Amino acid sequence: MIYQPHIGDDELFAAQLEMLMQNGRVASMSSNFIAALAVVALLWPYFELTQLLLWASLVLILLLLRSLHMSNALAERAYQRDPRRLFWRLIFGALVTGAIWSVTYIGVAPRVPLTIQYVLLLIIVLITTISLAVMVVVREYFLVFLFTSLFPIGWWSLVHVWEQPHNLLVGLVLLAVCALLLVVSNWIHGSFRSMISLSWEREAMARELGELTGSLRDRNRQLKEARRQLTDLANIDELTGLGNRRLVNHVLRQEINRARRNGGELSLILIDVDYFKLYNDTYGHPAGDDVLRRLGDILAKATSRAGEVAGRYGGEEFILILPGADAAIARRTAERLAELVYEENIPHRSSGNSDRVTVSQGILTVAPDGDIDPINLIDAADAALYQAKAEGRNRMVAA
Ligand code: GH3
Ligand code: MG
Ligand code: MG
Repeated sequence: MIYQPHIGDDELFAAQLEMLMQNGRVASMSSNFIAALAVVALLWPYFELTQLLLWASLVLILLLLRSLHMSNALAERAYQRDPRRLFWRLIFGALVTGAIWSVTYIGVAPRVPLTIQYVLLLIIVLITTISLAVMVVVREYFLVFLFTSLFPIGWWSLVHVWEQPHNLLVGLVLLAVCALLLVVSNWIHGSFRSMISLSWEREAMARELGELTGSLRDRNRQLKEARRQLTDLANIDELTGLGNRRLVNHVLRQEINRARRNGGELSLILIDVDYFKLYNDTYGHPAGDDVLRRLGDILAKATSRAGEVAGRYGGEEFILILPGADAAIARRTAERLAELVYEENIPHRSSGNSDRVTVSQGILTVAPDGDIDPINLIDAADAALYQAKAEGRNRMVAA
């Protein structure tokens, strides 16, 4: 998804209509309703009850219809489906309401005392100002109300200036108020629009950010997995699943340092399959591979203590690294390994000294105190292994 920094005009328009109805339904309806009650009370002494009730019913029905219309439009999301039509209907509602107020004033003014006339005017000015706050989100809506309520009253006052001298002042003030409301509404409306746009943008950005974060997290996971696989590829022997020579050298270097720091011992066992070349010659190379795999499993089984590492050091040579193991532990491990190999009972009819596959082991135990190269340790263990071979194979020799 590509981030869109600006809300489209259509979307903004729909949002304005929605906001107008959400606020307008309650606020402008109730202010009109209260004003109507006040007007009935105000004009009580000057008109017949039936006239007043008729007028009040008309206003009430209009307010009710407008309120119902807005509720329906909100429920049906008309501001999204058909905003233009909704707009004109709302405008019509504002127009009729505004006209009711101006017509009421113009009809009533000549028949009541001046104070009552001005109180009525004050009520209409109040409704118009309250409407500003609610309606200005759709500016035309407010302007239609303004130009059908206050503006005609101002105009009428100027026209009837000869009947009532105060009308000149009232008319001028009203026209000035209309001009002022026009300007102020323009200004407030602008802020409203940019406020809606801003909150819209912020929402879009937050959504976008959320998606980006999610995909970044996925990417990170994939990268980690890929790195893990690469590390495995570089360190794990494909045939046996044990650590390869690279890993063995790395671990050995680490363990040498650790043993030196802790003043502890470190043992390693080098293992070589006896007469393996003959095994390959007899049973074939793939069968030889299978033997190496099985021996790999046995070695993994033989390294049970924490930190112990089994590796394939060469073609058919394996190694066990036993951190913290003294000579006795190392020997016991080698014995157990020989036992496991024996129990595996892999037939080897061309072996020089058994009916099954056997191994020779060279054991080395050190307490490293200086800077020792892993190669030197391997060489020393290899010398012991060589001796085991020389002494007849299928045995272990400690360096
Ligand atoms: P010894 O008892 O002296 O160790 O005799 P040997 O025949 O085992 O001698 P050596 O250790 O030198 O033999 C190495 C043989 O191991 C040669 C090669 O055929 C075999 N070999 C090395 N790597 C592999 C492998 O990956 N798969 C198979 N099947 N055989 C291998
Ligand atoms: Mg060998
Ligand atoms: Mg061998």
